[in-house]
Amino acid sequence: MSLDAVNAVDWSAIPNPTGSRWDDPEDVGRALRLLTESSTANETGDAAARLAGRGFVCGHAAMVFPAAYAATPVLLDLVEHGRRPRVRDAALGLLADALDYFPTAGHNRVTTPYGTDVPLCCAIARHIRGRRGALLAHGKYGRQLLAQAELHWWMTIEETEPHPDGTVTVLATLEGTPFGTPVEAELHSPLLEGPATGVRIDASTVDDSGAACVRLGPTSSQLLPGSALCPAECGRREH
Ligand SMILES: [Zn+2]
Repeated sequence: MSLDAVNAVDWSAIPNPTGSRWDDPEDVGRALRLLTESSTANETGDAAARLAGRGFVCGHAAMVFPAAYAATPVLLDLVEHGRRPRVRDAALGLLADALDYFPTAGHNRVTTPYGTDVPLCCAIARHIRGRRGALLAHGKYGRQLLAQAELHWWMTIEETEPHPDGTVTVLATLEGTPFGTPVEAELHSPLLEGPATGVRIDASTVDDSGAACVRLGPTSSQLLPGSALCPAECGRREH
């Protein structure tokens, strides 16, 4: 497997929440190179342990770092194309940790091509859902990771119809598992930078294709097509 995906990331531009040199994002890039190129069980184990112990996640503190967002596509490439089963399994285990653990306070959001201030867990989960086929081909643990990622639902707004009482009917596309209502959500606008605003989803129906019709509680936020909703609970995940 090539190192293009690792080299495409500017690791030095990623924040290091602890400031410790052990958690340096550039070291995450180095460890991913070692994991990709590892050819013995020892080399694979060492590279995976570096990622599991600092910078990417810290298993001891159950903490996930911002660099995990950039590392996720690299690890998904390894799950799909890794040369050896041990590399593929290590990548899968690291991805499961990244989704399970909580970020440090103040570093629980990332900028993505589809919005700023996206909860780290939801951004990682969206990458994971994008490799559905590869994960289903990976057996039980691949299916488990996918099921975990499905809980971080993401709903893209297509059309809106405001009502006189302030509530809004929204036609949207749901990625992930349908959720119970009422539920608090974050509204992300692709055009507006800055913090997401809170809205309440009072009712939701979704068909098998993900086409959704939801009723939002009264909101003063602008609901532009292309805006998205995600679980407010995810935005509160932090140590
Ligand atoms: Zn999430």
